[in-house]
Amino acid sequence: MILSPFPGTPLITQGTGQHPEIYSQYGYLGHNGIDFNAPVGTKVYAPHDGVATVKDDGANGYGLYVVIDGPARRSLLAHLSKALVKNGEAVYQGNPVGLSGKSGSSTAPHLHWTYKLLKNGVVQNKNNGYDGAMDATEVTRLWLPQNMHHDSQYTDDARPYLSMTFASNQYIKNTGATT
Ligand SMILES: [Zn+2]
Repeated sequence: MILSPFPGTPLITQGTGQHPEIYSQYGYLGHNGIDFNAPVGTKVYAPHDGVATVKDDGANGYGLYVVIDGPARRSLLAHLSKALVKNGEAVYQGNPVGLSGKSGSSTAPHLHWTYKLLKNGVVQNKNNGYDGAMDATEVTRLWLPQNMHHDSQYTDDARPYLSMTFASNQYIKNTGATT
């Protein structure tokens, strides 16, 4: 089970695969994650267990971001204003890991969440056009109690992308893993 990094009813402003015209320069078919609207300083929570890595791209890319590597999944939480974890620190689902912001390449305060599946430390579906990133809302739809299609709000622009599904050869279904 994974949880949204924001509890409650977060507003999703960009879905996975949106704006291919922007993300083709990075080699992606579209946006490689989900964006949540959030005022600077909003607490960001670990969607699942794992070991934290804190990185800082400064004014570029993801800005200040935290990667959480679990046995079966990886989350990258970007554009933070502050990290609340240290490199190598074990984090558990629901732990606060940072404060949202607008660091890096970001025009407005928001949280970017990239989600990937791992197997033996190796990113799965790496050739899916998003370097293995997948639509996390697809996973939350399978794993109650948090169904982001149900619990989130989304902009009209983002709405179509929340129902996006990968081709059957790209999408890994719920494996039943519980961590
Ligand atoms: Zn984003």
